[in-house]
Amino acid sequence: MKDQASEARRNGRSRCCNKYDYVIVGGGLHGSLAALSILHNSPHARIALIEKEAALGGSHTWSFFPHHIHPESAPWFADLIYKSWPGHQVLFPGFHRKLSCGYASITSESLHRVVMEMVEGSVNGEIFLGDPAVRLTSDRVVLKSGAVLRGRLVLDGRGQPENEVFKGAGVQKFYGVEAEVELVDKTRLGFDPTQPCLMDATVKGWDGYRFFYILPFAAERWLVEETFFSDEADFDNGESRKRIERYLHKRGVRLKDVLREESGALAMPWRNPAPCNDARLTGDYAEAGASYPSPYPSPFKLGLRGGWYHPATGYSLVQGVEVAVLLGKYAPHAPPGEEICALRKGLARRSRFMRFLNWMLFRAVHPGKRLNLMERFYGFSEGLIDRYYACRPGRFDPWMLLFWKPPHPRYFKILPEKGSHG
Ligand SMILES: Cc1cc2nc3c(=O)[nH]c(=O)nc-3n(C[C@H](O)[C@H](O)[C@H](O)COP(=O)(O)OP(=O)(O)OC[C@H]3O[C@@H](n4cnc5c(N)ncnc54)[C@H](O)[C@@H]3O)c2cc1C
Repeated sequence: MKDQASEARRNGRSRCCNKYDYVIVGGGLHGSLAALSILHNSPHARIALIEKEAALGGSHTWSFFPHHIHPESAPWFADLIYKSWPGHQVLFPGFHRKLSCGYASITSESLHRVVMEMVEGSVNGEIFLGDPAVRLTSDRVVLKSGAVLRGRLVLDGRGQPENEVFKGAGVQKFYGVEAEVELVDKTRLGFDPTQPCLMDATVKGWDGYRFFYILPFAAERWLVEETFFSDEADFDNGESRKRIERYLHKRGVRLKDVLREESGALAMPWRNPAPCNDARLTGDYAEAGASYPSPYPSPFKLGLRGGWYHPATGYSLVQGVEVAVLLGKYAPHAPPGEEICALRKGLARRSRFMRFLNWMLFRAVHPGKRLNLMERFYGFSEGLIDRYYACRPGRFDPWMLLFWKPPHPRYFKILPEKGSHG
């Protein structure tokens, strides 16, 4: 690892134009996945991974259904998994349902540890922490310290640009704590404490759809998040923390100690994304002032910045692994442009219906009826629910979701709202 700021000061301009095969900007989820895949396939690849913070991965828990992960990633992905469970559950006012699909989580710590080991243990990999990139072009990256890194392929994994996030989108906003807990009264719990509870929506709702999300990492260590599907991004984390404590208390659980906090606001867009050959895929090639003759769109945008996510969940891990698998298969001078384009088109096609569902949830129904739509959704078969989370709806799923026991007309804004649940 380079303590980049001090090293650049010591070396003055001597670090100018270090050459790499890949310069990856952003050591969050997707920059890290790309680095792991590339190094697994090409152990001698010259990689620079640049992260503006002191550690990789921020403060996150990334969860997913393991069978959605691209199987070819298994050799480099498996070590990232911090905890997995054989099933999960949801709680709604009308029912409690256990689902048999496994669930798993990666934490920032597990990501940081695995990526540091992989990159630092490689022949030509380097990690630059605490030194933000201030300029990216198709073949070089300038860091705040003044270092200039030249790469055959520049990958831009700096996360979602803030000003773009909530245009034409609903908001999934949340605050959570990873905490030491004690189960004081089992009779009040109401769910299986050995398996994740992805939605406890039996709580009082406001600001759209409100629920709690619980990941039991161990008997006495849980991640508990309060989540809203809202029209607004603003959120008071302090108030949310108090509500989490009250929620746990009601469930017969004592919150002993908060170990870590995490919060976020994810876009759930209904607006269509730009087409396949737009700047997101071509990486603003002209705008970036390309000077290196590369056949590949560079800088290539990864993760949220590149729109590689599931529009109806805001989650991106599964899509990020697919991109990373492709990047790992090809050399930086002969990258998988067409395959990436096909992947992008496939995601865009499959996302269309997901965007329509977002439109329904955030625009068409009364905010207070989002709960009813979610409860109805969880009444469908496990297969349909699973395909929805995989962003791979089956041919008849849209018809089922729209017309099988269709939502009550009063849920929709064309009619005045009556009651909050029914
Ligand atoms: C709290 C939270 C929980 C989430 N949970 C899940 C989940 O369970 N499952 C899931 O699939 N998705 C989840 N998501 C959604 C999404 O997958 C994550 O946001 C994911 O981290 C996006 O990955 P990314 O690489 O695009 O961005 P990030 O992970 O945010 O990474 C961007 C990185 O770039 C760095 N950076 C930014 N600018 C610069 C610069 N100029 N120079 C150098 N570095 C820079 C940042 O410090 C950061 O580390 C969650 C999101 C949030 C906010």
